[in-house]
Amino acid sequence: MPEKRFNPRDLISPPWRTCPACGKDKFGVGLISGSRLMRRCWDCWHKQDYDLPKLQKKIIYLDQFVISNLMKLKNPATKGHAAVAADPFWPGLHDLLFQLRQLQMICCPDSGSHVEESRTSPFNAELKKTYERLSGGITFKAFDSIKSRQIGELALAWSERREPAFDFDRRGALSSDPNDWSERFYIVMGDNPFISEASLRQMRAELHSNIARLFRDVWDKEKRNFEYWYDLERFGYQGHLGNAVVRSRKERLEEMLAHLPGTEISMEDIEKTLPSFAEGLLVGIQNIMRFPRGGGERSGEEIGHLETEFGKANRIAEAPFVRLQALMFAATEMRAAQGQKEPPNEGTTTDIDTVAHLNVKTQFLDCLRSIRDGISAEHVQAIREVYGDDHLESVPSAQQAVTASKG
Ligand SMILES: [Zn+2]
Repeated sequence: MPEKRFNPRDLISPPWRTCPACGKDKFGVGLISGSRLMRRCWDCWHKQDYDLPKLQKKIIYLDQFVISNLMKLKNPATKGHAAVAADPFWPGLHDLLFQLRQLQMICCPDSGSHVEESRTSPFNAELKKTYERLSGGITFKAFDSIKSRQIGELALAWSERREPAFDFDRRGALSSDPNDWSERFYIVMGDNPFISEASLRQMRAELHSNIARLFRDVWDKEKRNFEYWYDLERFGYQGHLGNAVVRSRKERLEEMLAHLPGTEISMEDIEKTLPSFAEGLLVGIQNIMRFPRGGGERSGEEIGHLETEFGKANRIAEAPFVRLQALMFAATEMRAAQGQKEPPNEGTTTDIDTVAHLNVKTQFLDCLRSIRDGISAEHVQAIREVYGDDHLESVPSAQQAVTASKG
């Protein structure tokens, strides 16, 4: 077998320019990092750094419904392929998204929700490839960590007797700066071993049977208004968390008692012994109430008072994610109340109100085209330098820029 040695020159790629040191047309792209481009000569190793324009990418979150249809479009073996390919919206959306991503004008982060919903599909690998190609490896930090931060701020504000301040700094929510120029490659990892298909399936089935039951037994019998359902969901979240703490403590205890010394522990069993999201949150809130930011420690009486009042006031109902979630559930509940006979299918709990009707589809494509048409001449020039001319094919405004610069 021939030996393949790593050659650092393999990392230099086109577009080639004339090297200022040796004069050969071997001055290629070495490294793209942040807003900097490093060119290096393949022949004489001369290097030079260049500043790239600062980017302001639009963040677009594509939910699983969109990811799934884009995957079907490219995989004829899937069941829905023909339908998706026949609808001009999906090929149009596919081309625009990838074009805008190459042009460094949008960022479509992936998320734990994509990971979880794809894992139970027989097309997990294809789905993973689809959302990772679009995100370039930029990920929304675990939804749990966004939730903890919001509830943490509510607790901190409560202990300091002030109004909470939620900052929506998008860099804080993403794994890396979306406004960096993309490298020509990105690094992704395999499936997370802690996410088990079986437990996901079970969780989803439980959630679905709950919703289906509510649909039949409660929602269509009690005709209430939107505010009623919204408040019920919003103020009920704190109770769900409390129940989750009790449940995971019980599970851990059972797990530890059932374990036989000297036997192998499965990944799923290990997971049951780890602190759950709700437990971590509870400890976090207790610490916030115990230790003031200025230093020192509050008295037991003071802590008890703060914690009780925080719970009684149901401050958690004010977290932005709780409000959003309650809105989505209330919308489903209203559909039931308005006489929708069938309970929603299993996908509904995550796909509530996805881009569905034609009007929205057309508007979405128009919006993407207007992002593309807004490309500046400076941006076009930088794309040409970093990635080459083929990134600019079928970008109308870039063609005009070429004609202008040649003319
Ligand atoms: Zn050179």
